[in-house]
Amino acid sequence: MMMASRVSSTKIHRNIPSLFKSLNSSPSSYTSVSTSLNLTEKLDHDDELIKKKSTNESLSSSLSLEDGESLFSSVSSLQLLRSLVNLQMASFTPTVDFGTWVMKSRLMENMVSKKIVLGVVKHTFYEHFCAGENLEEASKTLQRMWDNGLKGILDYGLEDATDNMSCDRNLNEFLRTVESTKLLPPSSVSFACVKITAICPISLLKRVSDLLRWEHKDPSCRLQWKRDTLSVLSNSSPFYHTLERPEPLTEEEEQDLQKAHERLIKLSQKCLDINLPLLVDAEYTSVQPAIDYLTYSAMIKFNKDDNPIVYGTIQAYLKDAKERTIQATEAAKRMGITIGLKLVRGAYLSSETELASSLGYASPIHKSIQDTHSCYNECASYMIDKVLSRSAAVLLGTHNLESGKLAVAKAQALGIRKGNTKLQFAQLKGMAEGLSFGLRNAGFQVSKYLAYGPVEMVIPFLLRRAEENRGVLSASAIDRQLMREELLRRLKGGNLGN
Ligand SMILES: Cc1cc2nc3c(=O)[nH]c(=O)nc-3n(C[C@H](O)[C@H](O)[C@H](O)COP(=O)(O)OP(=O)(O)OC[C@H]3O[C@@H](n4cnc5c(N)ncnc54)[C@H](O)[C@@H]3O)c2cc1C
Repeated sequence: MMMASRVSSTKIHRNIPSLFKSLNSSPSSYTSVSTSLNLTEKLDHDDELIKKKSTNESLSSSLSLEDGESLFSSVSSLQLLRSLVNLQMASFTPTVDFGTWVMKSRLMENMVSKKIVLGVVKHTFYEHFCAGENLEEASKTLQRMWDNGLKGILDYGLEDATDNMSCDRNLNEFLRTVESTKLLPPSSVSFACVKITAICPISLLKRVSDLLRWEHKDPSCRLQWKRDTLSVLSNSSPFYHTLERPEPLTEEEEQDLQKAHERLIKLSQKCLDINLPLLVDAEYTSVQPAIDYLTYSAMIKFNKDDNPIVYGTIQAYLKDAKERTIQATEAAKRMGITIGLKLVRGAYLSSETELASSLGYASPIHKSIQDTHSCYNECASYMIDKVLSRSAAVLLGTHNLESGKLAVAKAQALGIRKGNTKLQFAQLKGMAEGLSFGLRNAGFQVSKYLAYGPVEMVIPFLLRRAEENRGVLSASAIDRQLMREELLRRLKGGNLGN
């Protein structure tokens, strides 16, 4: 049995570097991203050393992702089997294509067929990737995660809002979620989260984004309503959404914007009261400048005294991501506030590319996945440096093992304590379980994003997950391999009852 387990772990060990290579190799990785930006040569040199060191030493000395037995020690065999089956289905392209077609088909217009489809989804992908239909169910899932040593981030899957009434309704839902964390075990919840598109009408976010873009292009354009903020656009940001000078905001729009500020402030204040930091999600480029504007303005109010409460999100798949990360971080430093950023790769690849191409412009997304990986790792490295100098906090939201290992190696090399709450990791529920448990075993702060809400409401979220998991080189490929190996090990050892 021991022999079998040693053989299998060696096999995984051997396979992992080659999988990383195809997933993530880039000659430029970690050293050159933005030529227009001045990340010091020494940093690049340090990063290169760290990368070489971690690659040579099977990528990291303390983050062990090869041993399924220790990674999944807290997971029952039944849970493992269910996860494996769901991930296997989600990675099979024909299943995903068929599921996507069904979700968008007329079957969803007929009450009977819709009920059947939603029932099937609920007992497969939904149970795997989501935490429950309501706050009560989601809280139970969170407690189970906490028992396994992982923290939780409750994410209510709200729709984009179209008017003030739906914004107020959504705000109450967010406040209720934050309030509920008081009933959960202390420290089991790491962050609250909010979608600005749910608390500010989407049409207004587009108008404000247009005006911010125009202001960036034409400094003579004055936005009287604008509050203190950090910079939201850079010269490499996409400007094709705004080809003509936008009309100024009407009085009513200005009032609505004021209400949106107030909603975010109310939520941030609630978070500050219970000392629970708040993550603001990033969406699509047509509205992101307004989202960042509102977020940074709240950050200036709440991220004082070395205690970041409001976190914005940077999507590293965007060509301007690194420039904006550095600009915002430097501006925050000048203002004496601690910037908080969640760093993700980005979830709207197809829609961004389609929009840009329909307007006849190049995509705002990096030309290749390798460029996205490099950008992510460089932004992560930059932020970890800022954590060390106590001027920033970062949550690395990724399922990518190489990014996890590089960040761990850098944190170790700089001597950042593992319990430091200014450097945290998070994965979505049901994704990259091996990485989550590996980071937990290595002593880092790790959370799972727990999306919850009625099945029908979270369908767009599930479709994005299906997109991410398809194909042999998907984020879940290594998880599936580790889970198969671990189940086999337990079967051979006669301890499937674990
Ligand atoms: C905690 C957490 C919070 C999140 N919050 C947000 C959020 O606020 N906003 C948001 O948009 N997403 C969010 N996401 C989703 C996230 O963007 C996706 O899960 C992420 O892109 C998957 O990438 P990965 O880092 O896991 O790496 P991988 O799985 O290794 O990389 C896949 C990603 O690479 C990028 N990519 C793929 N192909 C190409 C290509 N040809 N060219 C360029 N880039 C490419 C895409 O971004 C794709 O998703 C969040 C995820 C987590 C874990």
